[in-house]
Amino acid sequence: MKIAIVGFGGMGGYHYKRVKVIDGMSVKGVYDIEPERNAAAALEGLFVYGSYRDIANDSEIGGVIIATPNDSHIFYIKYFASAGKKILCEKPVTMNAASFKRMADKLGGAIFTVNQNRRFDLDFLTARQVIKSQVIGKVYRIESRVTGANGIPGGWRKLKSQGGGMMLDWGVHLIDQICMLFPVIESLSCVYSYALGFDVEDGFILTLNTPEKVQIVIEVQTNDYIGVPRWKIFGLDGSAVIENWNLDGKITVPVYNGDVETVAINAGNGLTKTMAYRHHDSVENLPLPSVTTDMDAIYKNFKSATTAGDLIVKSNEVLRVLRIMDACFKSANQSGALIKLKEG
Ligand code: NAD
Repeated sequence: MKIAIVGFGGMGGYHYKRVKVIDGMSVKGVYDIEPERNAAAALEGLFVYGSYRDIANDSEIGGVIIATPNDSHIFYIKYFASAGKKILCEKPVTMNAASFKRMADKLGGAIFTVNQNRRFDLDFLTARQVIKSQVIGKVYRIESRVTGANGIPGGWRKLKSQGGGMMLDWGVHLIDQICMLFPVIESLSCVYSYALGFDVEDGFILTLNTPEKVQIVIEVQTNDYIGVPRWKIFGLDGSAVIENWNLDGKITVPVYNGDVETVAINAGNGLTKTMAYRHHDSVENLPLPSVTTDMDAIYKNFKSATTAGDLIVKSNEVLRVLRIMDACFKSANQSGALIKLKEG
C-alpha cells in the first residue's frame, strides 16, 4: 500500500519513519504548504506533490495520512474521501462533536480512521492490567497525569482558531485511554489553566465519575519543572504507581501479620496517625505486571481494513471522546461545574 503524507512536520516525519519499516507499506510522497518541509521530504528521497489534488489523482496512492494542524483536518478528510482514498487522520479529528457528525454523515462508506494511538502505549496497558487483575482490590481512584516544562511549543498550538490548547492535544489521548477502560462516564468537571498567558489553555484538571463509583483525575500541565507520576491507581487493598513511560514503578499491598499498632509520626508542627504510611513490615512491594503491545497496530489495521467496520479506532469511539471534550469546555466555561453526560 503506497501512502502519501499531507503535512510533513513533527508528526508527518514520525509517520514516515514508522510506515517505511512496515511490511507491505511505503510512503511515496508528501504535500506540505511550507517549501522547507517539502525540501526535507525530498532529501529523504520522497516525491513532493505540487498540490494536494495531485495526490487524489495519483492512482498508486491507496492511503493518505493527514498530519496538518487541527483546523485543516475536515477539509482534507472530505477531499480525499471523495477521491476514494483511505484516510488516517491525526487527532483531534475535528474541534468538536457537532463538526465531526456533520462531516461523518457525508463520508458515505469511506475508510477513515483517527490516530488515537496512545491506547497502545505500554504505560496505559500496564495501568489497565493492574486494574483488571484486581491485585490492589476494587479500584476506586485513577490518576493519569502528563506534565512538561516547555510551555506550549510551536505556533499553531497556541491559537484557538487552529485548534490549539492542551485539551485538544493531550486531552484526546488521555480521555481515549479512559474510554477504553470504562464504557460509561456519568459526569465530569474540568478546570483550565491559563498561567502562561496564551489564548488557549496551557493545562487542565479533569475529574470523571463512573457509575461504578470510580473517580478518575486527568491532569495536564506545561510548566512543571519537577515532574509527577504518570499513573497512580488506588484500590481498597493497595496502591500502584507507574512513574513514567519507561514503566518504573511498583504495586504496594498490605500484609497482615496480626495486629499492627498504628504509630503516630511527626508531621510539621504536630503528630498524625491518619496520614502515616504503613510500617515497612506491614506492606509488600510487587513489580508492575509486564504487558506487550504492537506499536504499529494502527498502521497495519489501516493497511488491511477493507470496510469501516474493520478499523480499530472506530467512528463512534472518536465521537465519544469529542463529546467528552465538549463537556470539558462547557464545565471549564462554568468554573468547573459538574456536567452530567448522557452515556449508557
Ligand atoms: P507541526 O506544526 O510540526 O507540523 C504540521 C505541518 O503541516 C507543518 O509542516 C506545516 O507546514 C504543515 N501544514 C500546515 N497547514 C497545512 C495545510 N493546510 N496543508 C498542508 N500542510 C500544512 O505539527 P505536528 O506536531 O506534526 O502536528 C500535526 C498534527 O498531528 C496535529 O493534528 C496534532 O494534534 C497531531 N499530533 C499527534 C500526535 C500523536 O501522538 N498522535 C503527536 C503530535 C501531534
